[in-house]
Amino acid sequence: KLKIAIYPGSFDPLTNGHVDIINRASDLFNKLIITVATNNSKKCLLSKTKRLDILKETFLNNPNIEVDSFEGLLVDYAKRKRTFTIVRGLRTLSDFDYEFRMAIMNRNLDNRIETIFLMTDEKYSHISSSSIKEIYDLNGDIQQFVPQIITKNKPINRK
Ligand code: ADP
Repeated sequence: KLKIAIYPGSFDPLTNGHVDIINRASDLFNKLIITVATNNSKKCLLSKTKRLDILKETFLNNPNIEVDSFEGLLVDYAKRKRTFTIVRGLRTLSDFDYEFRMAIMNRNLDNRIETIFLMTDEKYSHISSSSIKEIYDLNGDIQQFVPQIITKNKPINRK
């Protein structure tokens, strides 16, 4: 019965860990909607448009992947899309604590919501967008952690 799933995130920037989860999810579902959350207060490295462009270009050749964005509550977006399966990635036990509380909260907001967790390959378990942002800000080399398109074709504008 598994058909369509939503994979929400900030993707600021998209990392090899996200790509791993996306590839796993797109093997499991007929269609995967990657949706960029655009209303968080976190300091952004990339604009919404750039984050969307990077995702679209990275998954250009996967016909079962759709790229979208949303503002507001994820459960409201899920209702609009009539898709109640959410995919989230897990790296560590500390991710689990946070993700578990969020999944329960989302189910309280709408009991049709089912959150499915996929575990990343262990080689990506240390990668987070926030650590990449920090390394980048301190002039470190981020290319081993992110898809090539981010460092080669579309350099991040230094602030
Ligand atoms: P958010 O700000 O919503 O947490 P992120 O873009 O940081 O958005 O992450 C989106 C999802 O991807 C989350 O489920 C997160 O746990 C997962 N994720 C982030 N980094 C990795 C990684 N290296 N491996 C697997 N999953 C990851």
